[in-house]
Amino acid sequence: MVRVRFAPSPTGFFHIGGARTALFNWLYARHTGGTFVLRIEDTDRERHIPGATEVIFDSLRWLGLDWDEGPEVGGDYGPYFQSQRDTIYQEYLEILRKSDKVYEQEGAIFFRVSHEPQLIDDLIHGPVYRAEEKDFVIFRSNGTPTFHFVNVVDDAAMQISHVIRGADHLSNSSKHVELFKALGVPPPKFAHIPLILKTNGAGKMSKRETGALVEDYHKQHFIPEALRNYLCLLGWSPKDDREIMPIEEVVRLFDLPEINKTNARFDERKLAYMNAEYIKNMPLEEFLRRGKELFDVRADEAYIDQVLTICQEKLRSFTELGHFVEYFFDENFERPQSEWEKLAKFNPRPRLEEFLGAADALTAFNETNLEQMIHDLSEQHGVKTGDYIHTVRYAVSGRGVGPSFYRMLPVLGKERVLSRIHRTLEIFQS
Ligand code: GLU
Repeated sequence: MVRVRFAPSPTGFFHIGGARTALFNWLYARHTGGTFVLRIEDTDRERHIPGATEVIFDSLRWLGLDWDEGPEVGGDYGPYFQSQRDTIYQEYLEILRKSDKVYEQEGAIFFRVSHEPQLIDDLIHGPVYRAEEKDFVIFRSNGTPTFHFVNVVDDAAMQISHVIRGADHLSNSSKHVELFKALGVPPPKFAHIPLILKTNGAGKMSKRETGALVEDYHKQHFIPEALRNYLCLLGWSPKDDREIMPIEEVVRLFDLPEINKTNARFDERKLAYMNAEYIKNMPLEEFLRRGKELFDVRADEAYIDQVLTICQEKLRSFTELGHFVEYFFDENFERPQSEWEKLAKFNPRPRLEEFLGAADALTAFNETNLEQMIHDLSEQHGVKTGDYIHTVRYAVSGRGVGPSFYRMLPVLGKERVLSRIHRTLEIFQS
């Protein structure tokens, strides 16, 4: 029976590296029908930050990584906070005392290493042998147990079958294997997953790097499924060119020996691209629901729906939404002079005047008619359709990009489109 765990230390940050470790544990549990345990490694009280565990719970839930055992869920192997497991640690210390595996020195308790090479059965790196040279502390002189000891005791007591964690822990594993053996428990299998490097490849992605904290993505209204999909690809791939994949498909294909040995590189642009793809492909109702949650504007509900609907295919991130749609709700939108000057090559004045004349005569101001009208104008005046599109878009929105031109004009409505063009011509009279 597969039992895996995610064992974060609540240091106040929930890093994408941690999220990826949690994800790979979760994927493996779901792939094998095993159990995903969450355990909070909070023995280091000096580093304890209030609220840090809530950040972890919120981030995991936001990413859809539900745990089967752990805080707030319970289970047969609790408590799931190390700070509440003192009696268990004392019992396991007794086992080591009885077999003479420990000794005291200056108030600290040391574990006696065997000096034998230890086999770390790593599913990603293959079998690795390492010998521990030096005895190490398992209880400090102030009576608190150390990371190596509690980590192993809990993996033993919680019957963890596979330890999936960052490759930075590979060097600890020989200590851990020694401890498992001394406790009379067969060591679990290990899977040390590759590190995440900065975009430029120069070193490990640290907590201070932009884009490193999961909560920032949450605050920026990132699509959690997009971030999760991206994290799947940091060290794993479906062995074909697919990148955007439903999580059910990843669960089906995911396996531990399939993970890469080489370090993964964090690619902010790919992540942004995936977010945009998830936005484009989500059901319209979901897009509208998310959009309206974020969007605090007093306007007719049906009109808001129309505006959001035409934005879906072009919006890259919900953080941009307010800016993306503001001119639909405000006549006092900005028309930067610099942008107007950029339009000089399209002769904006005559184009806007020609557009006004033709649009005025349109009875139905809809997508099809507008498209036909721009086509006819361009033939008649021997200029590209783009010349009308760029100049009119600027006149009605003050910017160069936005939703599809032919869909946007009918949503704004004929009256507003014409009056905004008049206003633009007035502003830029010369
Ligand atoms: N608390 C450790 C960490 O956050 C866990 C290491 C492990 O997964 O064994 O790095």
